[in-house]
Amino acid sequence: MSPLSILFATAEMAPWVKTGGLGDVAAALPAALHRAGHDVRVLIPAYPAMHQAFPQATLLAELPPLAAALPAARLLAVEADGLPLILLDCPALFNRPGNPYLDPLGHDWADNGIRFGLLSRVAALLSQADFSLNSPHNWRPDVVHLNDWQTALAPAWLGNAGDAASIVTVHNIAFQGNFSASHLHALGLPEHVWRYDGVEFHGQLSFLKAGLHLATLISTVSPTYAREIQDEAFGYGLAPLLRHRTAALRGILNGVDNALWNPATDAALAAPYAANRLASKRKNKCALQIEMGLDPAVDRPLFGIISRLTEQKGLDLVLTLGEGITQLPAQLAILGSGDKVMEAGFHELAARHPGQIAFKQGFNEALAHRIEAGADSFLMPSRFEPCGLNQMYSLRYGTPPIVRATGGLADTVIDVSAATLVDKTANGFVINEATPHALWLALERASRCWHERKLWQTIQQTGMRLDFSWEHAAQQYLTLYRDAIATHH
Ligand code: ADP
Repeated sequence: MSPLSILFATAEMAPWVKTGGLGDVAAALPAALHRAGHDVRVLIPAYPAMHQAFPQATLLAELPPLAAALPAARLLAVEADGLPLILLDCPALFNRPGNPYLDPLGHDWADNGIRFGLLSRVAALLSQADFSLNSPHNWRPDVVHLNDWQTALAPAWLGNAGDAASIVTVHNIAFQGNFSASHLHALGLPEHVWRYDGVEFHGQLSFLKAGLHLATLISTVSPTYAREIQDEAFGYGLAPLLRHRTAALRGILNGVDNALWNPATDAALAAPYAANRLASKRKNKCALQIEMGLDPAVDRPLFGIISRLTEQKGLDLVLTLGEGITQLPAQLAILGSGDKVMEAGFHELAARHPGQIAFKQGFNEALAHRIEAGADSFLMPSRFEPCGLNQMYSLRYGTPPIVRATGGLADTVIDVSAATLVDKTANGFVINEATPHALWLALERASRCWHERKLWQTIQQTGMRLDFSWEHAAQQYLTLYRDAIATHH
């Protein structure tokens, strides 16, 4: 089949700008499509981190103000390991420190509707039949792949003959990008999209709703989450829309970047290891205990957590269990930041149990790798989880996860039971209820299994041998792209 031209639009991309799973996906999926021979280009704002990483950019195009509230901007071309990136350079909107969405006090930037309105507008512009970049960069995609609300408004400008087909992927439906109705004019949207089955959502302009209605096809990051978001309990008000578009909705599980997340080659670890060399994993546990200030205990399991601290992740359940975990007995190493009350709760819990519970506040990529390697088991009792990456990293690192049966967690973790041990699929521990009691029972169960060394090793090796390669996910996205192109024509 002939190669496709794909524009991948995103508000974050690891390792330069990352607040969560989208950053990892943006780093891995376009690269996998590029390796497969497709002409894929990534559109991303020129945040300070991008300027620093790519000082040698070439000018692709100067864009005039595209609407009343949109400043002039420039498109810059750079390459990351051969993958072309298009940087949207608009210093007035993107030359800001820190997190792409939040100001230094942790509040949404007041002009996020304009900032990501411009990103969506430019994604649309590059995909429109009547726009082409200056020669020699004359290029138009066959399909534009939009990710989360920050780019999901683009289809509101698309749909004419000759425009690219569009895909909107939902990485988390809780974030919708809803702004005042005045953005319709501020962003220069056509009047006709202000309707119930367009951009309007309870009197506001909703980026995500727009994309979910108007994109050629839509997807989300696991088959179970694709089903769940059609249900009121998970859909954050968009379930009826998704039921209406059910035929256009797919669930494609994210992959794992095997170059970054591989315990045999991971430079962040104290000692590399693999499924057939598991003994070295213990050295990583010792090193982690030292690094986090935990007692060097070898007689109890060490549970790890790496997470945004939000209610979504169910970590309030861990706080409620608190010292019960130390009585198992077990140790707990937590890395995370987010909700201030939860941060304070984990600081307090760690202070009450020095040597047994350690909390590092912040975002620390290298430590995240060392927790995956050094912990015996990983805790992720999420209330909802579109795909989840950490449970897959845990499986790769022989650190059987304890998860709640939701979204991508349900699609990747198979509970240890008599039946799954016999058919050799057991790779972790699954709870159904988001309650402290259910989590407690799972911790106890995992702890008991951990003491049975042979059994534990079997569970570890089952997880480590799973294939979560991006090559596989990329093939499914290519099918989605081709279907969208066929639907669009
Ligand atoms: P989400 O996107 O909802 O935050 P995912 O599990 O899909 O959850 O992806 C989270 C990603 O962010 C993983 O790569 C995880 O390792 C990383 N991460 C989350 N919190 C931290 C942190 N405090 N330090 C380092 N990495 C983190």
